[in-house]
Amino acid sequence: MRCPYCRHADSRVVDSREADDGQLIRRRRSCPECGKRFTTVEEAVLAVVKRSGVTEPFSRAKIMSGVRKACQGRPVDEDSIALLAQKVEETVRAKGAAEVPSHEVGLAILPPLRELDQVAYLRFASVYKSFDSLDEFEKEISALREAATARETGVRHPVTPRSGGRAPRV
Ligand SMILES: [Zn+2]
Repeated sequence: MRCPYCRHADSRVVDSREADDGQLIRRRRSCPECGKRFTTVEEAVLAVVKRSGVTEPFSRAKIMSGVRKACQGRPVDEDSIALLAQKVEETVRAKGAAEVPSHEVGLAILPPLRELDQVAYLRFASVYKSFDSLDEFEKEISALREAATARETGVRHPVTPRSGGRAPRV
């Protein structure tokens, strides 16, 4: 590999080690010409298969632009969006497949987005799950409300009985 400092055409690997549970390999390289050292990272290319059958490389930037659109006007900063995209990539890569269908990428976005901003989540989910009636919005909103209630009471009652009505408030 070409040296990024002096553009010498070759470099020598002085160390290589696995990172992220063997998902990637980092190599420390040394340039025989200028003596400088640099690091390269090698990882499997993750392909996303679109509904049309077309494949394209997984792109965090693409996740970020989709989420950014859903977050318009919401108090969500760029760092949180970048972090979300990172989580999505980790989730998708953790499946260990070289190819993932694009809808699985969409599914991986939903849970962290719900944590980040409920309005943005609702916008994203309405497009992603193609809501076509108010009922579907209503269902999603009541699911959000239930989750919020469960979170509030969950500290004291980690297991809320689903049958026999609501857990009594203490
Ligand atoms: Zn060099």
